Amino acid sequence: MATPLDEKLPPKIGRLGELAYNLWWSWTPEARALFRRLDAPLWRSTQHNPVKVLLEIKPEKLEAAAQDAAFIRRYNKVMMLYDQMMENGHSWFQTTYPQHKNKTIAYFSFEFGIHNSLPIYSGGLGILSGDHAKEASDLGLPFVGVGFMYPQGYFRQRIPAHGWQEAIYEQLDIGQAPVLPVKNEHDENLMVGVHLGDREVFARIWRVQVGRNPLFLLDTDVDRNDPWDRELSARLYSGDSEMRIRQEIMLGIGGIRALRALGIQPAVFHMNEGHSAFLTLECIREKVAAGMSFDQAVEEVRAHSVFTTHTPVPAGHDTFSFQMVEHYFKGFWEELGISREQFLSLGGHQESWGMAFNMTVLALRLSGQCNAVSKLHGEVSRKMWQDVWPSKPVDEIPISSITNGVHTSTWVAGEMYQLFNKYLGPDWLEHQDDPKLWERLADIPDTELWEVHQVLKRKLMGFLRERERRRWVDGRHDPTQVLTSGTMLDPEALTIGFARRFATYKRATLIFRDLERLQRILLDIHRPVQIIFAGKAHPADDPGKTLIQQIYNLAKHTQLAGRIAFVEDYDMHMARYLTQGVDLWLNTPRRPREASGTSGMKTVLNGIPNFSVLDGWWVEGYNGANGWAIGENIDYDNPDVQDEHDANSLYQLLEDEIVPLFYNRDRDNVPRGWIEIMREAIRSNAPYFTTRRMVKEYTSKMYINAMNHEEE
Ligand SMILES: *Cc1c(COP(=O)(O)O)cnc(C)c1O
Repeated sequence: MATPLDEKLPPKIGRLGELAYNLWWSWTPEARALFRRLDAPLWRSTQHNPVKVLLEIKPEKLEAAAQDAAFIRRYNKVMMLYDQMMENGHSWFQTTYPQHKNKTIAYFSFEFGIHNSLPIYSGGLGILSGDHAKEASDLGLPFVGVGFMYPQGYFRQRIPAHGWQEAIYEQLDIGQAPVLPVKNEHDENLMVGVHLGDREVFARIWRVQVGRNPLFLLDTDVDRNDPWDRELSARLYSGDSEMRIRQEIMLGIGGIRALRALGIQPAVFHMNEGHSAFLTLECIREKVAAGMSFDQAVEEVRAHSVFTTHTPVPAGHDTFSFQMVEHYFKGFWEELGISREQFLSLGGHQESWGMAFNMTVLALRLSGQCNAVSKLHGEVSRKMWQDVWPSKPVDEIPISSITNGVHTSTWVAGEMYQLFNKYLGPDWLEHQDDPKLWERLADIPDTELWEVHQVLKRKLMGFLRERERRRWVDGRHDPTQVLTSGTMLDPEALTIGFARRFATYKRATLIFRDLERLQRILLDIHRPVQIIFAGKAHPADDPGKTLIQQIYNLAKHTQLAGRIAFVEDYDMHMARYLTQGVDLWLNTPRRPREASGTSGMKTVLNGIPNFSVLDGWWVEGYNGANGWAIGENIDYDNPDVQDEHDANSLYQLLEDEIVPLFYNRDRDNVPRGWIEIMREAIRSNAPYFTTRRMVKEYTSKMYINAMNHEEE
């Protein structure tokens, strides 16, 4: 693969450009180490962005590397691994389903969190898409992703001294991101056009290489478009519902047209959330245009469509007024051979304020296979959408569940990876979803596991200090920030992490419900406890921003000061440090709103136990010995009662179990009992809550069914 970096590279290391443009490097420790070795300070200052490293590195350094025998040895080793991976000979999919290896799975998502150098994600949904795409490559699935290139991404968060979050949009320098333009046979940018109301809007296509598979990103910032249309894909989740429907038409319909322009004919269309559900309409239109009846086209499209719903929170499901849908789809129903009423009824749903066009309902009706993302979320979703199948009892509603996972090699710390290499065997990643493999954890001496954890904790503390130093250099120094940003945290104290989007249902402030009781826990001079918070509130979510401000103010308060930190601008880069370096991971959603949650799965890979409400994945993950469950496995009718019960349970567990166990040390200052929980957290959760198990499940339970369906 040719890249713009190739000319700069000495021939002996001439394929570094190809490597930099394949995000495979980001989850391959040997490849990461290679770039770090090339120029460690640049590696750090670019926040691990090899494209930027290669653009900025001095030519002399590249020459020196090309002359360095040790570097060349490493380079050759990495390129050998890379070529083996690209060859895709013995992958799981290729050996398990050889008859399907020429089919394609197209995976549509509004956001993809692959790496921080490509900031086109906001939170859990995007990270899941990114992890799914990486795992699809590892397992050898014939897979393409479809999404948006957002040149301004999601916002960067700043918290000024008053604590009210500010949103900053930065223009991404696309030349420094790991994306390459897709060209047509005349070497022009490949374009697709979609009718949006009264005019055609165009998008160009970027290609991101995710291991073996491409991810195609639509970008409306092209000269042919009017200025306001160029802005259509500028930012993720900003704008009103008019903007949203235009984006969703572009993703669904434009996405299908992009695949066709690329010559790709998928056998499976996976809609990750309802945002892309208009794609089903475009697929039906194609079939009707080719002569099929509408009803038959619907059956064909359903057979090849897979839909995953991600939230029980009503506001998380996009709905549009019929009037708006009519405006954008005028003329479309004639092409489908149906009436306006029939068309609107495809997504029609009774909302609390009246009938509207609901994207989840459209996806549910037009997908043959639908799933939720944890067992509990499956139950909740079947109840929530029962009215879509009025004649079926709730337990026959066709929404199954496949519990989420995380991509192990993305989220496991380098130090922990080495430890597992040593004790589980160098091929442990290959067998990561086999529970037997993890029994070997018993061989790791307590002291060694503890020592690795201490290293990661120190790295987290160093990371927080370095961010504050940068802030000072950038002229954004503020004396209160030194305190609130965690630079004064105590590396010896029990450190709790809480980092996630600041949606109100996540109840970030639950732990502050009884301030005096919390004070006694945090400020105990013999057994101090500290909490690091991070997370963004959606720019339009004032209640979410209020929660951030409350925590920020508490962090400044002299009576808690020094024991609470709020670190600004949570993203994947910071998530790695937090989910690798704290002692305990706190999660307090209002059950059953958390469909799954994934950050706690990242922490168990690094030996960090969960301290969580029994919601989402934790209902399945908790076994009584691998962490702590806040509250009980029940639903409440009264949210205030629920808050009171959960807060009480939280304090009690901290006072009676967690803090004493953490500080119960032997002669060598090693907390033997705590380490047992760490070990059990890894052993019981790591083999299951991985995308390895998850993508295999999507394949065997859903993708293969769709692939087996032959067109008539
Ligand atoms: C993992 C991750 C999330 C999702 O965390 P939840 O536990 O699902 O809330 C959100 N944001 C970032 C940056 C992440 O890395």
